Amino acid sequence: MNDVDIALRALTEDDIFRVIAVRTTDTVSAAIAAQKVKGPAAQTFAELLTGAVLIRETMSPDLRLQVLLQTADKSGRMVADAFPEGQTRGLVMNKSPKGTFSLENGAVMQAMRTLHDGSIHQGTVEVPNQGGVSGALMQYMQQSEQVASVIAVRCIFSGDEVLAAGGYVVQLLPGLEPGPLILMAQRLEDFEDLGSLLGRGSGDPKMLLDEILYGMPFTQVGESPVLYKCQCSELRVTASLATLPRADIEDLMRGGKSLEISCDYCGKDYQVRTETLRGLLAQN
Ligand SMILES: [Zn+2]
Repeated sequence: MNDVDIALRALTEDDIFRVIAVRTTDTVSAAIAAQKVKGPAAQTFAELLTGAVLIRETMSPDLRLQVLLQTADKSGRMVADAFPEGQTRGLVMNKSPKGTFSLENGAVMQAMRTLHDGSIHQGTVEVPNQGGVSGALMQYMQQSEQVASVIAVRCIFSGDEVLAAGGYVVQLLPGLEPGPLILMAQRLEDFEDLGSLLGRGSGDPKMLLDEILYGMPFTQVGESPVLYKCQCSELRVTASLATLPRADIEDLMRGGKSLEISCDYCGKDYQVRTETLRGLLAQN
């Protein structure tokens, strides 16, 4: 039983399906706590983070992937930021007065992933009505990556506490006709609800693989870590200040005190000393 966050990959022995199952319980708990998001918006955020991990694992495990979700009225935005080695963080900007985050009637999902040549592949899809985050992820994979996939992501709570989070992606091996995936999609629709499955095994992805591929011999071909980790550092904070116009830096120096900046993702506070700001001025 896996009681830490991890992504497992498997191939069926008939060479038809590849499946990635992931546990993200601790990762999404930490991200939700850092962003102080609650209620249904926390559920959506957890699903978005889990989806970003799955898409990165399936498309480009060694490169960064970001997924953005925006409500139709633009009052709410969420970002999931997934890095190689499983390091994942996220951001929620929600101006809706009730804290709701509606995915209906024209919400959009946009994914950006780095390619090996350093360029960015970008795709935007509308969230299908009633499709939720899982539906939007499938739509993205089909439209923007041209890979038919069955994807489900879920997070279950007790009050505001995350009990379990995780999900899976099922794809055909390249060059196969879509028939088996359609059958698989129907089979997974009749399946026990992902939420109750996750709760039963506390999100154990091995149990998810066993359930998804029940009766189909498979081999587990790899695993990779998943964890909550922000990428901020004093150096990055300083580097972001260096891009400001000279007059803005001079404004920040007025008063002669250290500048306090906190990371939007993880909330960590950084103190930038006046000497450092003076150094930036000398450079630009
Ligand atoms: Zn940070």
